[in-house]
Amino acid sequence: MDGDPPLTLLDLRELGVGRLRGVGPARTEALRGLGIESLLDLLTWYPRRYLDRTREASIAELDAGEEALVLCRVASVDSRRVRGGRSMVTADVRDATGSLRCTFFNQPWRSRQLEGFRDDEVEVAVHGKVEVFRGRRQMTNPVVDPIGNRTGRIVPVYPQSEAARLSTWEFAEWISEALRRSRTRGIADPLPEEVRQRLGLIGRDRAVRDIHEPADLHDVHAARDRLVFDELLRIQLALVRHQRHLAHTSQGIAHTVGSPDAVAAGLVERFVDALPYPLTGAQRRAIDEVVDDLRRPHPMHRLLQGDVGAGKTVVAVAAMLGAVEGGHQAALMAPTEVLAEQHGESIRSMLGGLSLRDDSLLGERPLEVAVLTGRTPAAGRRRILAGLADGTIPLVVGTHALIADGVAFHSLGVVVVDEQHRFGVEQRSALRDAGSAGAVPDVLVMTATPIPRTAAMTVFGDLDLTVLDELPPGRTPIRTEWLVGADGEDAAWEAVREAVAAGHRAYIVCPLVEESAKLEVASAESTHERLVGGPLAGLDVALLHGRIPADDKREVVDAFRRGRVQVLVATTVIEVGVDVPEATVMVVLDADRFGIAQLHQLRGRVGRGEAASRCLLLSATPPGPEAASRLEALVRTRDGFELAEVDLDLRGEGTVMGGRQRGRSDLRLASLRRDREWVGLAREVAGELIDERGGILVPALAAELELLDAKDEEFLRKS
Ligand code: ADP
Ligand code: MG
Repeated sequence: MDGDPPLTLLDLRELGVGRLRGVGPARTEALRGLGIESLLDLLTWYPRRYLDRTREASIAELDAGEEALVLCRVASVDSRRVRGGRSMVTADVRDATGSLRCTFFNQPWRSRQLEGFRDDEVEVAVHGKVEVFRGRRQMTNPVVDPIGNRTGRIVPVYPQSEAARLSTWEFAEWISEALRRSRTRGIADPLPEEVRQRLGLIGRDRAVRDIHEPADLHDVHAARDRLVFDELLRIQLALVRHQRHLAHTSQGIAHTVGSPDAVAAGLVERFVDALPYPLTGAQRRAIDEVVDDLRRPHPMHRLLQGDVGAGKTVVAVAAMLGAVEGGHQAALMAPTEVLAEQHGESIRSMLGGLSLRDDSLLGERPLEVAVLTGRTPAAGRRRILAGLADGTIPLVVGTHALIADGVAFHSLGVVVVDEQHRFGVEQRSALRDAGSAGAVPDVLVMTATPIPRTAAMTVFGDLDLTVLDELPPGRTPIRTEWLVGADGEDAAWEAVREAVAAGHRAYIVCPLVEESAKLEVASAESTHERLVGGPLAGLDVALLHGRIPADDKREVVDAFRRGRVQVLVATTVIEVGVDVPEATVMVVLDADRFGIAQLHQLRGRVGRGEAASRCLLLSATPPGPEAASRLEALVRTRDGFELAEVDLDLRGEGTVMGGRQRGRSDLRLASLRRDREWVGLAREVAGELIDERGGILVPALAAELELLDAKDEEFLRKS
């Protein structure tokens, strides 16, 4: 073995877990269920937490009010139901000095878990706030980690699988052995020394060891930084390579925007000047970035991410006008007809008095914004198609009807795609291909919700990223509350009545019925009936759901906008794009049945004007722990990135516990929220390590791209 080169990640991937002591066929099978087959998989099974045993206290010395960690064994477990149907599990735990009572509310699964620890006589770490009640020490809902019989100052706690009966201490043992056996050869570091030094990163070998067996918690940070950077760098290398390759092989349009020679010189500037408000700093930066991209000969491929209400439309319109300024056309594609029409309307009003010089007449003509959807009547459609083909219509807004056969553009220069996650990647490229004469139009993708998938695309997609991280001034933050039961409902109706009395409007979102659209409509209808006949009697309440014909739908939304309708009882059809600044209350019934991203999106329908807004999340009964965590997260924060993380955490945990195949994305440690800076640095470094044609200059790094998940790869290729 002596003289063998250090192990690469690919080497580690070739070594099966079966070669470890204690991993026989049954263990191998169980591990496979978690997606762990090789030593690489095992070494990237990172600790979920660490316990610092130097902070360990003995039960007898615990004082009320302090946070403490005790190592103990489970002596007895009891579970019962208490008032309101809540479950309560109590466990008595002991160490050599005394006993402590732990009480868990709404965690019925605890009793089985704790019983298991009792049978196995495992040592557990209990971490929480000490209370003293009638002279007895106790903790409510403490964190419990089984640690087996491990010693050492810092004990890593691994995600374990109860279903597969794989415990955290087994993981620790196997990982320890894998690390020991790789010590002679060491783990290779493909990152150029100069980059490593510049970013202050430790070597890979040390990072892999320290993340699992740190001497103290400082080591963990340094190790994590390095491993996070590696994950992100792999992805960025793939992206930048793809991007450079595209840029090298595709012909874009170098728009003459901001130049006196432009066909419609100064159009973007005139548009911005004519807005009834000044741009936010973020909007200004975004427009500068976009205009910069437009001027370059390579096609733009940029993601505009901004929370609901951040003012993405202004940036989109500026991009579209950039195309027109240089004599080209622009299209905006929206996910639904309602949204396409709304966009059309708001863009028309934004463009107000702007006009174009018309060379043929030596006069001016207004900037026409055409709207093309599946419902556009045949005659109008013919006229629009003709206008797009001969270039007399500079701007068009539509649904996927825009990419239907027969739509040809004179010179499509900019494409804006709204609410990206509703479109398949294929549709996006189809629109891009609609550009004429072989030139690829510039593409701007707008997204409001950094749902994990979208958040992932920020990193996975080969898109440059612009973030609108500033809301227009004068918005009062939305107060979000989570209310339970009949009292909760009463409070919600009270809030609706107050809003209406103040001249505002309210949305009420009906329970989600995922299994059937028909049942959902029925539930919306009965909710409407119940409210009109009861708690909201006397108010103008309208109903909106997916089965209502489009024309009527538009009429309802319009009446709501104008205030003839004060309360809108709706299904999630209002999720995207409905923009009524006077709406200040959002009530979501059975909110515990919705996902985080969906609630965040729904909440974005209020808080769009100057009056203070409220979002009331109702649940009929106290929800389970996972739903509770979702609702708590929404109450706590409006930061879409943070919510996306929570969502990811909750769902990720779910699959691990279920013992099903874990999503094997290459992003194990990196968090898109916490590690945003590393994303940027990784992108920079990737830019340096790739040549103009997309060649990666360090072969060992190029080889590692093989580790990227097949799904990620597919996405990269298609976008
Ligand atoms: P998004 O699409 O990001 O959710 P919109 O573009 O629909 O947001 O804008 C939300 C609202 O904010 C609109 O009513 C718009 O007129 C208004 N708005 C946009 N930019 C500004 C600004 N700079 N100052 C004040 N209001 C703005
Ligand atoms: Mg919008």
